[in-house]
Amino acid sequence: MTNQLDKLKAENTLKNKAKSSWLTFFYVGTTDDVFSEDVRRVFIINLFASVGVLFTLPLGLVALYERKPILGCFLLLIAFLYTVNHIYLRRTHNHAFSGNFVIYPLYILMIYLVYTGGVKGTGHVWIYCVPAVSLFLHGMKRGLIELSFFTLALIITMFFTNNHFDEFGYDPSLKSRILFSFIVVVFLSGIYEYSMSRFNQELKETSAKLKLVAYRDPVTELLNRRGMLQRLETSSYSSFHLLLADVDFFKRINDEYGHDVGDYTLVELANLIQASLPEKGLASRWGGEEFLIAVCDCSESEAYALAEGIRQRVQQHEFVYLDHRFHMTLSFGVATMNESTPLREAITLADNHLYNAKRAGRNQTRRG
Ligand code: GH3
Ligand code: MG
Ligand code: MG
Repeated sequence: MTNQLDKLKAENTLKNKAKSSWLTFFYVGTTDDVFSEDVRRVFIINLFASVGVLFTLPLGLVALYERKPILGCFLLLIAFLYTVNHIYLRRTHNHAFSGNFVIYPLYILMIYLVYTGGVKGTGHVWIYCVPAVSLFLHGMKRGLIELSFFTLALIITMFFTNNHFDEFGYDPSLKSRILFSFIVVVFLSGIYEYSMSRFNQELKETSAKLKLVAYRDPVTELLNRRGMLQRLETSSYSSFHLLLADVDFFKRINDEYGHDVGDYTLVELANLIQASLPEKGLASRWGGEEFLIAVCDCSESEAYALAEGIRQRVQQHEFVYLDHRFHMTLSFGVATMNESTPLREAITLADNHLYNAKRAGRNQTRRG
């Protein structure tokens, strides 16, 4: 039983590895923002270039075999270009330029196929892949402009040149049918692209709103505990100081003046703290009436002085809400996070120092 489980686990790991390397191949050159339009574009470039190589390489060889050297070389050149494109995208991540590598050779190839008929007069059947790729890569506006030029080139090639249609004895109405069906495909691809980018835009906005709700406190607009922890845990600084503040006798404000005044006091305190922060400081609402501040690029004494500065500023501040005028004080606990004191331990230390400040009579700062 355990053996079977282990085997299943190993198989799944292998499958996941294969799946992720497969996806990495197509997503190479993207950013981490999963809602970014660029991610979708890079995916399409890589996917299209790979499918392009899979088709153009054998078709190019077939064309050479059938003694069509120009078409054969053209197709092989495109297969080569698409391969170079993937390597270029992987190295530079420049998908805007890389997309041109995919689309412009495609336009030229399609016009060439419509003109010559490709292999056995079937060249024109490939033009329907153009609208989707063009709109995917360049978006609605530029995509439609380019498709208008492509359609114009198509009309000139089909109706005003000595092309393959007469040579293969097709029905005269075929050309206009091809043109109209091509325009229908452009129209449908346009609708699809439009709804996709609208959907993507809405998804992006919703994600931004959700992030705001998840990481910000709605009352003070400071980072909340989750947001602060995320910032501290992902910080590139290996050492910073933590200043944990708790409002003294806050319950009295609620009891005496009501909850709204309590909320107003929290907002006012958040503003006072924000206004006192140095450039590399970060403040958060850590809990009910607790604020956690992080500062870096300064000594422990400077961090202590900052806590004292905020404490005195708050002590001197007069809070005014309608007819109510009152003063508040803060107690601080200061601790340092570094190689020997990990984040969680430093937070606990700051909390202990804050507790000592409370026990010693409040309205003061304590450190280790
Ligand atoms: P101490 O000096 O010991 O810290 O006394 P305290 O009264 O500040 O401490 P305690 O933790 O007992 O009370 C905190 C109060 O903060 C309790 C709660 O009603 C109030 N509080 C917490 N969150 C909010 C809030 O969002 N708005 C308001 N108005 N009050 C809040
Ligand atoms: Mg308190
Ligand atoms: Mg408290």
